[in-house]
Amino acid sequence: MKMQHLYDKDIQKYTFDKSNCSSDNIEHINSCEVCKKVSESYLLLSRELKSQPEPELEFNLTELVLDRLAFSKKEPIYNYMLCLIIIMSLGAAFFTIYIFRDVFSNVFSTNITISNYFILSIAILISLFLGLDMYRSYYKKINMLKY
Ligand SMILES: [Zn+2]
Repeated sequence: MKMQHLYDKDIQKYTFDKSNCSSDNIEHINSCEVCKKVSESYLLLSRELKSQPEPELEFNLTELVLDRLAFSKKEPIYNYMLCLIIIMSLGAAFFTIYIFRDVFSNVFSTNITISNYFILSIAILISLFLGLDMYRSYYKKINMLKY
């Protein structure tokens, strides 16, 4: 039997979850008046807390929180601008490729050197990292919106 009194967490374990309590602790509490009294007071406190009525708020908390979280609807003009910018970027990219089509065809067909592979692999790596970062930040923002 332990000579010193048990810690509060051991007494709480004995009081509320006796099946996971060690046999030494059970033996101590059964033989020690001080620890037994503490255990009984925990039990009494628990019963008193359970007997308390549920607190009722005078206002609808859910409604108040949802009102604060009202999502701002994006203006349709914003969507049109975004589409316009994307289309203009794609157009500029294709126009550039069209203008420099001779250079591009030379780069990728006739003399493929090790430096071309180097540039291409770096471009692919950068694109992969940027894409991965965009994907990660997108999911982070989506997870922040879930509540
Ligand atoms: Zn004790």
